[in-house]
Parts: sequence; C-alpha cells; structure tokens
Amino acid sequence: MQKQIIEKLQKKLLLWYEEKGRKDLPWRNLQSIHCDDRLRQIDRAYGVYISEIMLQQTQVKSVLEKFYFPFLQKFPTLQSLANTNEDDLLKAWQGLGYYNRARNLKKAALECMEKYSGILPKELKKLKSLSGIGAYTAGAIACFAYDQKVAFVDGNIRRVLSRLFALKNASMKELELKAYEILNLNDTFNHNQALLDIGALICLPKNPKCGVCPFYDFCKAKFNPNSYPENKKILYEKLNLFLIFMEYKEQIAIKKSQEKLYKGMYNFPLFKEDEFKKQKNMIFLGEFKHSYTKYKINIKVYHQILKIKTKDYEFKNFKELKHIPLSILSLKALNLIKF
Ligand code: SF4
Repeated sequence: MQKQIIEKLQKKLLLWYEEKGRKDLPWRNLQSIHCDDRLRQIDRAYGVYISEIMLQQTQVKSVLEKFYFPFLQKFPTLQSLANTNEDDLLKAWQGLGYYNRARNLKKAALECMEKYSGILPKELKKLKSLSGIGAYTAGAIACFAYDQKVAFVDGNIRRVLSRLFALKNASMKELELKAYEILNLNDTFNHNQALLDIGALICLPKNPKCGVCPFYDFCKAKFNPNSYPENKKILYEKLNLFLIFMEYKEQIAIKKSQEKLYKGMYNFPLFKEDEFKKQKNMIFLGEFKHSYTKYKINIKVYHQILKIKTKDYEFKNFKELKHIPLSILSLKALNLIKF
C-alpha cells in the first residue's frame, strides 16, 4: 500500500475510534484521568496483563461485568498472584473456563519474581518467554502498558487484515508484516485499540458492516468479505454424558480433576452411557448442553441417594461446594438443580 493511502487509512481509523471506539474500557484507562476508582492502585502493566489473559477466550461484556474487578480485588498485584495457592486462584477464575490461563498466570508471576524483580518486563522477547504469553499478548502488553510502537495480530485483527488486503491463507508472519505496514507510529496505542474494535464491532465474521467501516475505501474484500480469510471448518463430535448428583447424608460426591484442561477443578461424577447403565435408583432432574474443545455434549442430570459412601469421590455439603473451584460444566449442572 502506498504511503499516502496508509496515512489516509490511519486517519480514518482514528477518527472512527474517537467517535465509536470502546475508549471507556477500564483496562484502556489505567492510571489516566478517566481511570475507574477501583483501579487507582493497580499497576498499569499488571491491569493490562490480566485483561489480555481474560479476554483471550472470554467476551468483553462478561469480563467487564463479572470477572475483571473481583479478580483484581482478590489479586491486586503480581506478587499476590505469585503467593496464592492453586485452589484460591482457580476459585477466582471459576466461570472463565480454560483454566490453564489461570495456572499460567501464577507461573508467569513466579517467573517475574525470579527473573525480573517482580515486574512484568517491557521487552517483547522477555514477555514471550513467560508462561502463557504468546506473540499477541506480548505485543498487547508492550503497546497498551508500555506505549511501545509494536504491531500484533489476534483472531479479530487477522480477519480485518485478511480482508483489507484480500489474503485467503496468509501466515501469521505475513499478517504481522501487514500490521506493521499500516501501523500508526504517531498514536500506536489508539491505532491498535481501534483495530481490535473494528474486528469486534464492524468486520464481523458473518455479515460485516462494510457500509460503516472506516476501511471501506481501502478494503480489497468489501464486495465479498465472507471469502476472507479461508477458514478451516471445525468438526465437532457429539457426545452424550450422564452427570449424577450422588448424595450421602446431605453431602454430594465430587472429584478433583487431573485432566490437563480441567486440572485442579472439581467435577460431579460424569459417566458415559455404558457405565451409567450400571447405576441404580436414580431420578432424572433435567438436561443441558455444553461445549468442550471439539465436543458438543448433551448432559443428562440425575439424583441418586447412596446407602454407602463410595471411596472414588470426596463428599462435600452445599456450603463447602461454594468454596471450591467448580468446572463450568459442574456449575451449569448446579444452576439447573434446586434440591
Ligand atoms: S470494508 Fe468490510 S470487509 Fe473490509 S475491513 Fe471493513 S468491514 Fe471488513
């Protein structure tokens, strides 16, 4: 793209951001005059870091309304994260899913304590060396926390750039070069925030709003945006599972997971059909749907009163259940049931 065209594009993007961008998001205003009172004592780099990790797989609305402030209240510093125990951390992360993110937060905090005097480093290379921080997150922290003039690509920016330049199967490297090609060195912070907002609000995966897009005059895919980028179809597998609330003297059976994705989280007993058929004396309570990696799961929920305590599980009363980290699947089952 020619230099003059890039300058026009940058100008249009910033004008759009000024008018329509999500400038009020709290993690975009850490330590500015618009800073939310609850965040006044939060270190800017730390506040940006937590927001970026939460936003990796969770929607802005949900992070904003349910998770960001309570988490920072509980863990206001990198040091507090490094010192926490896994159960407390997973409990605070409960509902966000993808619990490896939480475990990596603690690991990265410990790495910062050991190598970088307890603060998040500024350099991309050092940031990328921390647990759970990839190229995108390192770039976002460098730019949004330390005002560095760097470009980066997440899923939304990938879609915008692929369409803007009509690239069907561009590699991450190619897309990063494109991101640098249009990077506004005079206002990198707002440029990158604006690009994220275009991806989230305008250049949507289906039915992008090309008519109101500031890139319309420059975009090579505006007449057939759905052809870019070429997405591989995710093949989901359907699965039927059976969850049983096994009750013994007003206590419910539960197990701490050792599975990689759920490690440390608690689950109610779950069975495949053949194992479930061996269970007796159950009452059907309801069913719900749940997605987990490549699985679309239908879960039928039952209640069973046990005469003998089984050694396969721990048993907790309802008060105790409130204080342990439960998987999203278990929380959904609990929401469904009112004993
Ligand atoms: S014009 Fe349409 S396809 Fe192009 S960047 Fe804007 S919203 Fe996306």
